[in-house]
Amino acid sequence: MARTWVEVDTAALAANIRTFRRLVGPGVLLAPTVKANAYGHGLAIAARAFLEGGADWLCVDSIDEARALRAAGVDAPIYVFGYVPLDDLAEAAALGLRLVVYNRETVARLAALGVAVKLHLKIETGNYRQGVHGDEARAIAAAIAAAPGLELEGASSHFANIEDTTDHGYARLQLARFEAEVAALRAAGHAVPVRHLSNSAAALLWPERAFEMARLGIASYGLWPSRETMVAAYLVGRRDIRLRPALTWKTRVAQLKDVPEGASIGYGCTFITTHPTRIAVLPVGYYDGYDRGVSNLGHVLIRGRRAPVRGRVCMNMLMVDVTDVPGAALEDEAVLLGPQGEAEITADALAGWAGTISYEVVARLGQHLPRVAVQRPETEGFSDRVYRAPRVN
Ligand SMILES: *Cc1c(COP(=O)(O)O)cnc(C)c1O
Repeated sequence: MARTWVEVDTAALAANIRTFRRLVGPGVLLAPTVKANAYGHGLAIAARAFLEGGADWLCVDSIDEARALRAAGVDAPIYVFGYVPLDDLAEAAALGLRLVVYNRETVARLAALGVAVKLHLKIETGNYRQGVHGDEARAIAAAIAAAPGLELEGASSHFANIEDTTDHGYARLQLARFEAEVAALRAAGHAVPVRHLSNSAAALLWPERAFEMARLGIASYGLWPSRETMVAAYLVGRRDIRLRPALTWKTRVAQLKDVPEGASIGYGCTFITTHPTRIAVLPVGYYDGYDRGVSNLGHVLIRGRRAPVRGRVCMNMLMVDVTDVPGAALEDEAVLLGPQGEAEITADALAGWAGTISYEVVARLGQHLPRVAVQRPETEGFSDRVYRAPRVN
């Protein structure tokens, strides 16, 4: 029996892909990204659920993730959008991976290997992370065209400022730059059949601008990219989108103790009880991904009630106040993230306490925590609620 584990609702993951299918229509490839251990949900579990829900391709960051997917028996197209070291290119070709490309060295090495690989040119449109544009983009496209076996299958870019704001002027500028760059490539004789620019926020807000493929991320896991994205979706009249969160993070009470008034709890003596208090010790800490920033701020759920975090989050332990949780007992299930009874802790709430975003909360869930696939009925938990604002006690 695991002390701390993650339950992943595969029915919810599949349903989210079907939601995007309805949004973008049948002609657009859906390519959910399973980078970062599938945003913490477990690489193989999430990949299978997405494919079952109708995903066409999978996106990953690294060849290691792609290798793990192939080893798990996934034979769907895989697009690697992070850097692949030159020495790994032969293996990437052997695994049949599609690769992002934005430098000449990668093309030269692939050409020298004489392998057949489908490549996607990353276009710089204003994120200044990966990508090339103008003459450099066309030179790389020409080098690909000149190498037998290499194929310029696609062109992509990535939004810098779409989920952080309801003002999408910059995103529109990037969209226009992308279209101009693709037009120049096509004018130079490159067909570039698969264009893709959409992340979750873009697919939610502008499903009609997804071109040939959408690289879905956080929303395929049932989480809105941000409050701004939800507000923007409402403003453009998309009020019927239901995303189903899939992840519940659980642990068990490892000790119960009664402490007197005036007792200090945990490192740094940062919490002093003001009345006799019943404390539960949970075997989970920042090593597992429970952010230390949640110290003295958040709560967990035990017996359907809120148990506030007292004192600092430790490396492997956490103390919570169960004074108001009648009957709390050793090995009671404690929910760190997700629903329990009538209560719920959303990834946004946990992110709010930790001073970060839901992406980081789920992506940093310890790799060592067991992931357990479950199938919940759609009505269970809070999957039917549109959005719950992060709440601080
Ligand atoms: C992570 C990532 C995505 C998905 O982003 P979300 O905001 O999670 O939808 C898409 N494209 C690239 C290149 C990414 O790195």
